[in-house]
Amino acid sequence: MKKFEYMEKHGYEQLVFFHDKTTGLRGITCIHNTTLGPALGGTRLWDYENEDDATLDVLRLARGMTYKAAAAGLNLGGGKSVLIGDANTVKSEAYFRAFGRYVQTLNGRYITAEDINTSTKDMDYVNMETNHVVGLEGKSGNPSPVTAYGAFHGIKASLKEVYGDDTIEGRTFAVQGAGQTGYYLIGYLQEANAKKIYFTEINEKHIEKVSKEFPEVEFVKPDDIYTLDVDVFAPCALGAVMNDKTIPKLKAKIVAGTANNVLEDEEKHGNMLKDANILYAPDFVINAGGLINVYHEIQGYNRDKAYREVERIYDRLTDIYQIANESNEHTQQAAKMFAKKRIETITQLRSNYVKP
Ligand code: NAD
Repeated sequence: MKKFEYMEKHGYEQLVFFHDKTTGLRGITCIHNTTLGPALGGTRLWDYENEDDATLDVLRLARGMTYKAAAAGLNLGGGKSVLIGDANTVKSEAYFRAFGRYVQTLNGRYITAEDINTSTKDMDYVNMETNHVVGLEGKSGNPSPVTAYGAFHGIKASLKEVYGDDTIEGRTFAVQGAGQTGYYLIGYLQEANAKKIYFTEINEKHIEKVSKEFPEVEFVKPDDIYTLDVDVFAPCALGAVMNDKTIPKLKAKIVAGTANNVLEDEEKHGNMLKDANILYAPDFVINAGGLINVYHEIQGYNRDKAYREVERIYDRLTDIYQIANESNEHTQQAAKMFAKKRIETITQLRSNYVKP
């Protein structure tokens, strides 16, 4: 892989490889852009097939974090770490402490958190070696309900855009996935008196939980979720669920949920949804609630303040929809334009000398 070529093309700052011989730790931290503040992004532990796969993953994920933080209005840049290994065998106190020491060497340019295959417990070990870690037990807590809360407000903004009215009452929803975020989203929609909610799941325990707690919410088989005659399709499970096969099936006027990388191909499927007159809430904007919440940990956590900030996902999406309308771009592209604009503006305002 031509790393410098890739970094130059997409404006990366730093790519750091590290290895610890005692624990076998092998990892990469990528800092994409720190214009707005320190680069924040979780640590993913994955058994990558080869080093290039791991490198490409960390590069892509770090860049995604830059846009996510910028669009969320946070003073944070984008970064990410990947650790290469089998989560069932490599984890130990020493392993994560060794990682923490490498995070510390970046001297606050990068702040880590949990991600796929890493937990708050693992981050407690990281925290023994560095303070540049968030998402710790007993601080901002589980991000998933907050992500769902942000998505709920994003859905309201999307309803307003399509129907001129953001009330949930009288509207119908299809929620794909009732895990950490989908379950809470169903709760918020139910509490706001949604007319009808359908959901799908593949995990029996999650199906039982929703059916028991919300008997009015109707289960449908995974393949049937796309064709339902509803106002909103809320993807809260997998990525790439908007693709050549699913988009033609949709009857919903809005696609808005918590899932990441919803569009299989951003350009193609962003445009396909636009052409089909289906409003797509850009994933990295509508699902930023967890990030906004954890950001407040850096500032000294105040739950009310964090939740108020999460509610502003509504305003951000409203602005992005306006940009999309004015530029005739699909909404995912408009969201990137919105994020880049903020980074550019802050760069410009910092161009004069102010004594530190
Ligand atoms: P999760 O694993 O807790 O929940 C996903 C659920 O989807 C699971 O219950 C799983 O059984 C179900 N599922 C998987 N395949 C399915 C299928 N084909 N049909 C129906 N259900 C299926 O994950 P989560 O934390 O709720 O995250 C969901 C999505 O949101 C992911 O894309 C994640 O990256 C994204 N996200 C989560 C957060 C957060 O705070 N947890 C933040 C930002 C983005």
